Amino acid sequence: MSASVISLPTDQLSKLGIKTSTPIHYQLSPAELVQDTLTMGEGILNDTGALVIKTGEFTGRSPKDKFTVRDEITENTVNWNEFNIPMEEKYFHIIHKQITDHLNQKKELWVRDCYACADPEYRLNIRVVNEKPWNNLFAYNMFLRPTEEELEDFKPEWHILSAPDLKLDPAICGTRQHNASVISFKHKMILIAGSGYTGETKKGIFTVLNYLLPKTKGVLSMHCSANMGNNGDTALFFGLSGTGKTTLSADPERGLIGDDEHGWTNEGIFNFEGGCYAKTIDLSEEKEPEIYHAICEGALVENTVFFPGTNRIDFSAKTITENTRVSYPIHYISNAVEPSTGGLPGNIFFLTCDAYGVLPPISRLTPAQAMYQFISGYTAKVAGTEAGITEPKSTFSACFGAPFLPLHAGEYAKMLGEKLRTHKVKVWLINTGWTGGSYGTGTRMKLSYTRAMITAALEGKLNSVDMIKHPVFGMEMPVQCPNVPSVILNPRNTWKDVNAYDKAALNLAQQFINNFKKYENGVDVEIREAAPKI
Ligand code: ATP
Ligand code: MN
Repeated sequence: MSASVISLPTDQLSKLGIKTSTPIHYQLSPAELVQDTLTMGEGILNDTGALVIKTGEFTGRSPKDKFTVRDEITENTVNWNEFNIPMEEKYFHIIHKQITDHLNQKKELWVRDCYACADPEYRLNIRVVNEKPWNNLFAYNMFLRPTEEELEDFKPEWHILSAPDLKLDPAICGTRQHNASVISFKHKMILIAGSGYTGETKKGIFTVLNYLLPKTKGVLSMHCSANMGNNGDTALFFGLSGTGKTTLSADPERGLIGDDEHGWTNEGIFNFEGGCYAKTIDLSEEKEPEIYHAICEGALVENTVFFPGTNRIDFSAKTITENTRVSYPIHYISNAVEPSTGGLPGNIFFLTCDAYGVLPPISRLTPAQAMYQFISGYTAKVAGTEAGITEPKSTFSACFGAPFLPLHAGEYAKMLGEKLRTHKVKVWLINTGWTGGSYGTGTRMKLSYTRAMITAALEGKLNSVDMIKHPVFGMEMPVQCPNVPSVILNPRNTWKDVNAYDKAALNLAQQFINNFKKYENGVDVEIREAAPKI
């Protein structure tokens, strides 16, 4: 790539407060960014040529330090809550000044122009300014990559300024602590200070799109993955972190559209991103060949360790964090669809990782149940309490993505409800979590079974199978499914102690009901009645 012929947009950068006497590396190729990272001693190549780095103090997002500037645009439109924390505009200016002062002291900087939204009608141009070359490589991998021609008259609409090494003084900056991610819709800017965690950039732009697309373009923005069958039928996979969006959308039999963020227009769906960001904990070639083989030259691996004395990654190690990750351009997955767009979805899967082992591994939802589940956004993780004792902990996250939704959940739910009705989409609930008991007694559902259930649903093989209603949750469970033992299809049959199952089911149902109280008054009676029955 001869990107160096494209000249650096110096006057635009100085308007941003960036001193352009600093050597600025503009639009470097992945190979150059890898080299710069290696030269700085901030990364090592593994045995397959991927760049392995440490993100530093933060190995995950920091939702408590994510702020939205409260101004005339956001005041009455943003749903201020624990995820949309307001910040006065004066602090935005203070942090902006601190970040530019910090960046202006650096020996060199990395700048990249890229964009979000694979559908040209909704394209959002982004300019990223980094103090770390590997953060810039992340932007290359994850956002869409303009051609050289497109770069000639590239007009950035949004800016991201990233300064992981800057520590903020909360007393001066109006922050909680030394790090912050700040979104300003008025200045069209995301400021990231004190954290090198790459996901802050990606989910920052996602948050921006979750505001702009529904509000100004009538497009439903969604926290879901998407893929497409040979005859063009598309499927969406909604779910919170760790439920299987990335894993299950990478299906050798189907074209990958995207693994995390999509928009739904009147014509079809499109990916917001140009890459994937996969978990690598316990990654194996056998179970997840597509992702495993994407770890090669150009891929950026975060927070993993090597087997001693080698540069072979130990995917089982949680030494630095359990949230080990890799980012790579989407075409690293062999059957990725280019461009990352597709027609209207025929099937939607809601993924949940139910560590209680209560929900069936696959079930069909009525439109009202689908809305109930979408608004609830349930999953349950395993929470460590004291040493050796762990128990499931429920999360209810509206629309399967509350941390990224600036608008009220009801706005997204209303749009989804209309689309489900208009397009008669089939909706399935998939439990990728526990079977045979809760965490501790049971085991996680085998990935090969989950894949087989999804394939069966997509191929229409569950359309004429007998279904039985779950006695508490009401969804329909198929009694048979190709390539899956029938006994696991009804979770109650997998528990040794059926009384314990019934108790666990009622306990989970009660949690759903308690959580839904805050939405009850805003939804139609049929959605209210889709609640579990105690
Ligand atoms: P994020 O939003 O954080 O990117 P995600 O929804 O994309 O999360 P994945 O990265 O797909 O989640 O993570 C699912 C993890 O669970 C993977 O590590 C996968 O190997 C593991 N897993 C184990 N059993 C299953 C199963 N039955 N179905 C799906 N994933 C499973
Ligand atoms: Mn994912």
